[in-house]
Amino acid sequence: MKVQLLPSTIDENGKASARQHLLTMVIDDRVAIDAGCLAMSCSDQQRANIRDILLTHTHLDHIAGLPMFIDDLFATLKEPVRIHATAQMIETLERDIFNWSIYPRFSELTNENGAVVEYREFTSGERFDVAHLSIQAVPVNHKVAANGYIVSDGNATIAVSGDTAETHEFWDACDGAENLKALFVECAFPDELEGLASVSHHLTPKRLKAELAKLGSREIPIYVINIKPMYREQVVSQLAELAIPNMAVFELGRVYEV
Ligand SMILES: [Zn+2]
Repeated sequence: MKVQLLPSTIDENGKASARQHLLTMVIDDRVAIDAGCLAMSCSDQQRANIRDILLTHTHLDHIAGLPMFIDDLFATLKEPVRIHATAQMIETLERDIFNWSIYPRFSELTNENGAVVEYREFTSGERFDVAHLSIQAVPVNHKVAANGYIVSDGNATIAVSGDTAETHEFWDACDGAENLKALFVECAFPDELEGLASVSHHLTPKRLKAELAKLGSREIPIYVINIKPMYREQVVSQLAELAIPNMAVFELGRVYEV
């Protein structure tokens, strides 16, 4: 399985920066988990191939690139862009984003080939297929209802936490997953911002360490994602101090084979 986190920010030289403002994870150039920067940073091949987008939740940093992605493709789509989301997320998108004021309601529009958007509703906790992948949606602990995902292509399985604070269901699901080859887990804030992490339902390095203890003794690569850009250096250095041997910060833009 090929996994890539798309860059979302450029540095002063116009190059992709390691700072991550928006989140989009692409699997096998074909399925996107979240669409924070999907329209802005995907490759031409990804733009041509990705028709399934799986949302963890509807916070803007996870959906900002979704309207533009559909807009870009509007006239050329031969099949709809499928948005896999819970009923609550779909309601939020239709009410607050695709409401004709912020952006057109694409779900009511067609091109010459038919619908341009199709919602595929799932319930938190449900298992379902998306393209060539089997998905298990696992409720996590965030400020709004959110899901982590256990994703399998039949050979390898990965677990993606999405945005979360302390949780049990996700770690139980990781424990129950067969062929788990990699874990992608958030760590938004440095230890000094414990209070902010608490109210916004995110992790800090110290809290992440406690969470990882719930995973048992699996020795799989652990990749940290969703580090708030303003605190990146601080978080990276505090993660290094934890000295967890199989843990690394997931590099934006790099394609990992899992
Ligand atoms: Zn969030």
